[in-house]
Amino acid sequence: MEKWNIYDIFEQGESIIAGSTQKDDRFFYDFSLSLYAGDDKEKIKSNREIFREAFPEEYGLVSFYQIHSDKVIDISEYKSFSGWLESDIEADGIVTTQKGVVLATLGADCLSLLMYDKEAGVIGAAHSGWRGTAQNIAKNLFETMQKHGAKAERTLCAITPGIRECCYEVGSEVVEHFKKYPSSFTKKSNGKYMFDNAEVNYLRLLEMGFKKENIEVSDICTGCSTERFFSYRKESGCRGRFMNYIAMKP
Ligand SMILES: [Zn+2]
Repeated sequence: MEKWNIYDIFEQGESIIAGSTQKDDRFFYDFSLSLYAGDDKEKIKSNREIFREAFPEEYGLVSFYQIHSDKVIDISEYKSFSGWLESDIEADGIVTTQKGVVLATLGADCLSLLMYDKEAGVIGAAHSGWRGTAQNIAKNLFETMQKHGAKAERTLCAITPGIRECCYEVGSEVVEHFKKYPSSFTKKSNGKYMFDNAEVNYLRLLEMGFKKENIEVSDICTGCSTERFFSYRKESGCRGRFMNYIAMKP
């Protein structure tokens, strides 16, 4: 689990645990954790058992079936957690005030946002591919946390590994959503663009009132790091997915 702790912004092991899993060839499909990307579910469940064993027994996990939307669900009142082995919620963001509940997203180029306001005692996690970013799921995620007292000026946010500008060629149909953020794309001679989804999310967080020093943008590009992370683009439509997670310690 230690090698999953790639974020410096959280006081790891104090009140919070957060991280991103990485490829591991000791397990099926290099340790992919997605039940819905086409791999054998029993083998994925075996991997998810390995993932579960990294947490103390009392922890519950909520993962969801990601639909590239801006839908955020508040699960603070949930009583049971079956997410270790299945994903029963359709959404792209989740928020909770419960300690000992792991919020998890899956990625293979799409980045995620992991947020924590220690004083309010609330965490959030969202999957934000370009479609989620175009719909501004970061805003929905934080507004749901605000209902529990979260304040922008003290909320911490990690932007997970994802595909970055060096590897992410897109058409104008993507970039047209992000004209307001010209630093997030570069036009190429072939008429396409290189796009940086993390940059848009970073600028949006600043607009919402987050402090620069409270935002950690992972410098890992999944496209450049296929030895450690799955990349849908660089591994030609791979089925592998890594898990990003955050939980408040009980
Ligand atoms: Zn790259």
